[in-house]
Amino acid sequence: MFAAMAAPVNNPDHGFCRDCLTFQRSETRRCERCGSPRLARHPELYRLHLAHIDCDAFYAAIEKRDNPALKDRPVIVGGGKRGVVSTACYIARIHGVRSAMPMFKALEACPEAVVIPPDMEKYVRVGREVRALMQALTPLVEPLSIDEAFLDLSGTERLHGMPPAVVLARFALTVEKELGITVSAGLSYCKFLAKVASDFRKPRGLSVIGEAEALGFLAEQPVTLIWGVGKAFAASLERDGIRTVGQLQHMERGDLMRRYGVMGDRLYHLSRGEDDRRVHPDSDAKSVSAETTFDTDISAMAELVPVLRALSEKVSARLKKSGIAGRTVVLKLKTQDFKLRTRNRHLGDPTRLADRIFQTGLDLLRREADGTKYRLLGIGVNDLSDDDKADPPDLVDIQSRKRALAEGAIDTLRGKFGKKAVETGYTFGKGRSTNPPEPIED
Ligand SMILES: [Mg+2]
Repeated sequence: MFAAMAAPVNNPDHGFCRDCLTFQRSETRRCERCGSPRLARHPELYRLHLAHIDCDAFYAAIEKRDNPALKDRPVIVGGGKRGVVSTACYIARIHGVRSAMPMFKALEACPEAVVIPPDMEKYVRVGREVRALMQALTPLVEPLSIDEAFLDLSGTERLHGMPPAVVLARFALTVEKELGITVSAGLSYCKFLAKVASDFRKPRGLSVIGEAEALGFLAEQPVTLIWGVGKAFAASLERDGIRTVGQLQHMERGDLMRRYGVMGDRLYHLSRGEDDRRVHPDSDAKSVSAETTFDTDISAMAELVPVLRALSEKVSARLKKSGIAGRTVVLKLKTQDFKLRTRNRHLGDPTRLADRIFQTGLDLLRREADGTKYRLLGIGVNDLSDDDKADPPDLVDIQSRKRALAEGAIDTLRGKFGKKAVETGYTFGKGRSTNPPEPIED
C-alpha cells in the first residue's frame, strides 16, 4: 500500500498524497499517482512530530456507520435526561446545530434531524479500538477523552519507515477502513498548536502548524484560542482591552503575572507558541512487567533463576516491540504466607535489554533468597521512555557490551525463525522452569 519509499526524494514543498501516501515529485495540484486532490504540503512537514488526533463527530459517525440509511441525513445524538445535543453530524451542523445545545433549539434549527439516544457502551468500545490503533504507532499516547489524544511520534521514523506526517495520514486511512469512522489530525512541535491544528479542517483534516509560522499565526487569533481561556476569562481580558493573542505577544511576563496570576504565565508562553508540556502516556502503560505464580512454593535460587530469566525476556520483548525502555527495574515476590516484597533498582540509563533486566533482577533476588518460600515471582520496569537513549554502548564493562551484542543477534534470529529458535543457557533444559505458566500482566 505504501509506495512512498520508492520516490527518489521527499521534498516537503512537493508533499505527499493523503490517499495513496506517495511522495510527490513536483508541486502538482493532484496526486501524480492516484489523482487525489488531498495532498499534504508544508515546509516543516517532515520535521514535526507532535500530533493531536480527534475523531470527527464521533458518536454521530458511529451511528451512521451502523445504520447506512442515515448516511445523508442530519443526525443528532443526544436527548435523554439532560435534553442536550451530545454530538451533531456535519449535515446537522450546517443547519446550525451545535454540541451542548438544548434539544428543542436544535430541532428548531433542524426539524428534519434524526435524534438518537446515546449508546455510551458502544462508543467506549469504538474509542478503545481507536486507542489501540494509536498505540500501535507509539507508546506515547495521551488520551484527552474518549475520542481524542496527543501522540508523540518523535523517534518513530525508523520503526515505521516513514515520517510522522505520513504515519498520521496512514492512520486516518486505517481508521476509515477498519472502524468506518473518520478522524482529523493536527501536527506541530508542541501540544498547544497540535490541538489547535487538528480543529482546522474537520472532517478528515490533516493540518500543520510549523515553528516558523507560529508567532504570526497566533498574532491573528482571538484570546479564546489559548487553552484555559474560557468565556469568563475572555471577558475580563476584554475589559483590559485585550482581544487578540497578538496583543499578549507584546506584553511583559511580569505584567501578565501581576494581572492574572498563574494564568498570566500561561498567556505569556502560549501566546508566543512556547509549550514544553510532554506527552504523558496512558497510566496503564506506566510499567511493563511479567510475573508467574508457582504450582508449589519455591525457595531455591537454582529454581527461581530460570523463571526470572524467562520473565525478563518476556518484558524485554514487549519493550522492544513498543520501542520503549525503562529506567527502574522492579522485582516482585510473594511469600508463602502472601506477603508482598517489591525491590527496585534505578539504572543509570533506560534499558530494554533482557540481559540487563535479568542481571539487575538477579542481584535483587539474591538478597531475598534467604530460605523464604515464594509463591510468586515477577520482574518489570517502570520510568518508561522512548528507547532512543536506551542502553548506550558501555565501553567500561566489556562483558555487558558483549551480552548486548549477543542479545541483538538472538533477537534477529528469533525475528527470523520464531521465539523458540534460540534459548539462552538460563532457560534451556531447566525442567519445569523452561515453560513457566503464562504470566499475568499488571
Ligand atoms: Mg471529536
